[in-house]
Amino acid sequence: NPVIVAIDGPSGTGKSSTSRAVAAKLGLNYLDTGAQYRAITWWMLSNGIDVNDPVAVADAAGKPVIVAGHDPAAPGITVDGTDASGPIRTQEVTAAVSAVSAVPEVRARMVELQRAAADTSPAGIVVEGRDIGTTVFPNATVKIFLTASAEARAARRSGELNGAQSVADTRAALIKRDAADSGRKTSPLAKAADAVEVDTTDLTLDQVIECIVTLVEE
Ligand code: C5P
Repeated sequence: NPVIVAIDGPSGTGKSSTSRAVAAKLGLNYLDTGAQYRAITWWMLSNGIDVNDPVAVADAAGKPVIVAGHDPAAPGITVDGTDASGPIRTQEVTAAVSAVSAVPEVRARMVELQRAAADTSPAGIVVEGRDIGTTVFPNATVKIFLTASAEARAARRSGELNGAQSVADTRAALIKRDAADSGRKTSPLAKAADAVEVDTTDLTLDQVIECIVTLVEE
């Protein structure tokens, strides 16, 4: 059976760097489900859809064609054939993504794409997100839930933005997004009962990668 490694957790815990490295080491495909939710959000914003109107978002949810790459070295994502890797990382998209991803029609569409990605990964796939172990792949081979202190997460994210946003502003935005992602009715950010929780606050990236690779190889 193909291996499915589910890696969930809030932002700034090192999910993406960890997931990509684990996939590369194990020769598996990689899927960034956050990038998919960001991509549909970017399309909504670009097409004048009111992201705070769940009915408008639901009506439009089936329109954009989103294709996520599976190469851990260079995943990439396109929307209607256009490379969206850059635009999905703007603060505008980051601020709108929780509202869009709370809409059940959006989630249903993304989950369908996520399961199809696994079906077309003969060796297996590392999938990162918020609800992968709970909802998308409840039978995943290994489930990981990454955490880290709010301070560590904000410092990492602010660093990734090259200081364009202060640590304090980043911290406030992270906490707001976590609360929205954890509080929504459909598939909230949550640790699966059978997930292994790894607190990355005081661990190096290599230590986290090693820990997960070991769990998969066991
Ligand atoms: O991981 P990333 O920060 O790029 O995710 C962006 C957003 O996409 C999250 O804040 C959340 O609102 C949404 N998301 C989700 N379910 C997932 C992955 C991401 O709702 N599986």
